[in-house]
Amino acid sequence: MKNFKTIIEPFRIKSVEPIYLSTEEERKNYLEEAHYNPFKLKSEQVIIDFLTDSGTSAMSSKQWAGVMEGDESYAGSKSWIRMEKVIRELTGFEYILPTHQGRAAERILYGYLGSKGKIFISNTHFDTTRANIEFSGASAIDIPIPEGTQPSLYHPFKGNIDLGKLETLIKIHGANNIGGVIITVTNNSGGGQPVSMENVREVSKLCRIHKVNFFLDCCRIAENAYFINHREDGYRNKSYREIAQEMFSMADGAVMSAKKDALVNMGGFLALKNKQMAEACTNLLIITEGFSTYGGLSGRDMEAISTGLGEVFDPGYLKYRIRSTEYLGQRLQSMGIPILLPVGGHAVYIDAKALYSHIPVNHYPGQALVCELYLKGGIRSCEIGSVMFGKYNNQKKLIPASMELVRLAIPRRVYTQSHIEFVIEVFEKILKEKDSSRGYKITYEPEFLRHFTAKFEKV
Ligand SMILES: *Cc1c(COP(=O)(O)O)cnc(C)c1O
Repeated sequence: MKNFKTIIEPFRIKSVEPIYLSTEEERKNYLEEAHYNPFKLKSEQVIIDFLTDSGTSAMSSKQWAGVMEGDESYAGSKSWIRMEKVIRELTGFEYILPTHQGRAAERILYGYLGSKGKIFISNTHFDTTRANIEFSGASAIDIPIPEGTQPSLYHPFKGNIDLGKLETLIKIHGANNIGGVIITVTNNSGGGQPVSMENVREVSKLCRIHKVNFFLDCCRIAENAYFINHREDGYRNKSYREIAQEMFSMADGAVMSAKKDALVNMGGFLALKNKQMAEACTNLLIITEGFSTYGGLSGRDMEAISTGLGEVFDPGYLKYRIRSTEYLGQRLQSMGIPILLPVGGHAVYIDAKALYSHIPVNHYPGQALVCELYLKGGIRSCEIGSVMFGKYNNQKKLIPASMELVRLAIPRRVYTQSHIEFVIEVFEKILKEKDSSRGYKITYEPEFLRHFTAKFEKV
């Protein structure tokens, strides 16, 4: 398909799921009932669901066939033996712990390494990563490169960590107090932006010198490998899988939510190099997740993960994945919607602060856009800004997040070109009526991960 400009979906559809096409009047009521928090909407009330790319992938016929092949034995199931082998070969790590999703692996690893006084450092901790670290009593510090927090600036590897700051932090706090350095590939909360191999190499060197643990949050490592192949010198002739393997080889372990680049609806794992750490984590795994040969997963889930981890590195798939996300981004940009540039791997991020410059950050411009997208087009999206990451100072005044983004996360292999054309049309309406949009205030919020259950009211 080299000499064509149209990117086609590299699959045919074998099974379909109907979408209910609601009216704007209906959606107005649904949104009110959901307290203006799309996490509280019923999925049937949504037309295009861009809330997350997590666990929303369409599985292939081979994965579904694997579901029937699942060996549901309690111990030593052959589905586990296959999954362990697939992950060992991909990551090069000796110890593989299956978990029901990414955050379970995070809770085990960071619960084990974290305690009061400990520090974790990352290009950007994902929300569940931060929550698990903070829940252990430790603190989480984000140090993306400065380019990473300027939405309109182009940089090929905006997901990179600031190496100068990393070295300073290790020196200030002392290597003994660093629970670990975590590189998230791609940087989900920072716009789905890739991290370069060079950056990972330097992090690895620093961590080795100071004897600090270095982990990859590798949820989207295949998408990250695509960007390295296309943007970084010296990787043109390496396969996506080889690029991922090189990256794994520089870390002490990895945490993965298989709900992303393993193309499944549920699952995760923790992969470790160090035997002692693996044994301690296995004990925690058995207490809360399950025995070490299934860890909260069914045999059928493990079959689907093993197959998905192979399919995700297929060049045809990755090209379609990255180029189709970029297509939506480019169309929105050319219409005048401020987006985070360059377009990341799994999502298009709208700069809501720039779009709704009349809404102050303490009225959550991102939440305003999320609500408008739902009202106008039944599109469900996710605020990644001060609702998700905002904190309060002693006077209960909002300390805003560094950016006010709205993420349109694209489920893998789920929507077609015409769905995307519809989304573009909804944005034309949003743009036309942007000055009449108003902000929101929070009327209820829990202590951790407040965006999931917070309630809002229009200001
Ligand atoms: C999704 C995600 C997680 C958490 O995984 P879950 O499967 O949702 O528990 C952690 N880190 C990153 C970067 C993610 O995208």
